[in-house]
Amino acid sequence: MILVGVVPSGIVEQTRLLINQTYLDGVFRAGGLPVLFPLTADQNELRSLMNRVDGLLLTGGEDVEPALYGEEKLPCCGKCTPERDALEVPVCSLALELRKPVLAICRGVQLLNCVLGGTLYQDLDTQFGKALRHPCFDAPAMDPAHEVQVLPDTLLASVVGAGALGVNSRHHQGIKTLGPGVVMSAQAPDGLIEAIEYPENPFVLGVQWHPEAMAAHHPVQQHLFNAFVRACENGKSVPGI
Ligand code: MN
Repeated sequence: MILVGVVPSGIVEQTRLLINQTYLDGVFRAGGLPVLFPLTADQNELRSLMNRVDGLLLTGGEDVEPALYGEEKLPCCGKCTPERDALEVPVCSLALELRKPVLAICRGVQLLNCVLGGTLYQDLDTQFGKALRHPCFDAPAMDPAHEVQVLPDTLLASVVGAGALGVNSRHHQGIKTLGPGVVMSAQAPDGLIEAIEYPENPFVLGVQWHPEAMAAHHPVQQHLFNAFVRACENGKSVPGI
């Protein structure tokens, strides 16, 4: 069985740690078994967890702490979840070090880019402009809100095809500069980076949209989970991993 480590939202309501079931469903449909990580910053526990799972799914959530990309937190930045950053930065680094597959969604792609040395817009409306409305929280998450262009000869293109792809859009932050070795693999019509990958590892892919919310109705979005879980399976069969 392919075990996929899943990072929870980091949001604790009363005593309940939240995770959107759609992330788990995407992994289940791909034939993987999702394993929800606890909120811990214990490095030994996190290394032990990352050694046991075959890949890492970084999920959506609240804003990444700007100190992680060397900036002061501005008033336009949203709520941050330090307990989640404390879990996610080390597990993401470990997944990259162990060359395990990573699928990063929304906040996940932002976190991934930061861990790889990139930076973020703390708020798109304030810092990037309003050419295209990206925080479309009033539109149904299961349907496309805008198109992106998937660039040819990328890992993403091998999964969903190159060219136009309809995506939902529920983010007020975005990638400003790419980390070293990080490649853009999809772009919105206003120029915003909507997907990245890290070709130095076999499968590291991040998307700014929410494929988990669309996957039940738009099979092309489920392909992201399928390709990710296949990569986890392939990694497992490589000696030494
Ligand atoms: Mn968008």
